[in-house]
Amino acid sequence: MALIEDICEWQTELQGWRQHIHAHPETAFEEVHTAAFVAEKLTSFGIDVHTGLATTGVVGTLTGAEAGPEIVLRADLDALNMTELNDIAHRSTHTGKMHACGHDGHTVMLLGAAKYLAHNRDFAGTVHFVFQPAEENEGGGRVMIEEGFFDQFPAAQVYGMHNWPALPAGEFAVHSGPVMASADRFIIKLSGRGGHGAMPHQSRDPIVAAAQIVTALQTVVSRNVAPVDSAVISVTRIQAGETFNVIPETAELWGTTRSFSEGVRATIMDRMNQVVKGIGDAFSLDVSLDYRPGYPATINTASEANLAATAAAEIVGTNRVHRGLPPTMGAEDFSYFLQERPGCYVWLGSGTSDDCPGLHHPYFDFNDAVLPVGASYWVQLVRTCLPIA
Ligand SMILES: [Zn+2]
Ligand SMILES: [Zn+2]
Repeated sequence: MALIEDICEWQTELQGWRQHIHAHPETAFEEVHTAAFVAEKLTSFGIDVHTGLATTGVVGTLTGAEAGPEIVLRADLDALNMTELNDIAHRSTHTGKMHACGHDGHTVMLLGAAKYLAHNRDFAGTVHFVFQPAEENEGGGRVMIEEGFFDQFPAAQVYGMHNWPALPAGEFAVHSGPVMASADRFIIKLSGRGGHGAMPHQSRDPIVAAAQIVTALQTVVSRNVAPVDSAVISVTRIQAGETFNVIPETAELWGTTRSFSEGVRATIMDRMNQVVKGIGDAFSLDVSLDYRPGYPATINTASEANLAATAAAEIVGTNRVHRGLPPTMGAEDFSYFLQERPGCYVWLGSGTSDDCPGLHHPYFDFNDAVLPVGASYWVQLVRTCLPIA
């Protein structure tokens, strides 16, 4: 490994920041104290600070020794609505909130890089250090884009990073193309005619139709999506009925869909509509499909993925940078940035053992040992993307 020496010397300081943020988790659009902490640090490094983006987002802008293109390095500020079970000195002090996705670590790794680059402006161009709110569920990244982020910060490339406990600490995974899936939600409502459980012919049973829909939806993946493409349709909630001998009037199905391309996503939406409507007609029920598009797929562009892999290899060595790992069906709102600009979202290995707690686990705690790895990668990435002539 060729970590940046100064950054390694800041281990205790960076760890202190990370554990402070971990102990004070804040969730979507309420990251007031975390944002103030970030803004205060950036200001102390001598970096121009912009606050209040998408409510609580912070952007620090730093210009290099020479002129050149502008790039975005992005971290996320938010925690999750869940209870931490760790018994550690820096455990959450906010009831029902927890940094279980490591965004506390992401924030500090980017702060570490900002601190270093502020004192070593050996790059040609401008770096925007983006600390976005509400990555979990609420799409803070989307809100920033809708507010006109790229008008204010006209970056040519965008880069993101997530810690990855399933990968050994200090390794990287860099994907060219899809790295995370789109994530949509749906609610299907069926309305028939209730009646006596012993006289089903007098009813129009929404439960039998709901069961048909659950089964038929699986054929969208197996018979409409091409076998070489990936897709998921999961019905995750079925609600109907109250007792043994009554056929209910209504039934409701909830679920999620995942895919890696807008084409597959459109096929899923289209076929779900047809299947739901067709089964509703066949069973003489009123049916509705409320399909709610969520985060799009996160898709890295090839040349920016190569730049990211080159930078990562400079820091940890080529043998610790994986280029061929499969993507996951999880989702990420950095996808909104990647819809606007070329870029790359990498996974930084943070695992300590094969069975260490994963992301969103109540015993998760960001692995502080990788703070200098992530911060060094960011610095090297800036040098790689914005080289001095
Ligand atoms: Zn998460
Ligand atoms: Zn996350």
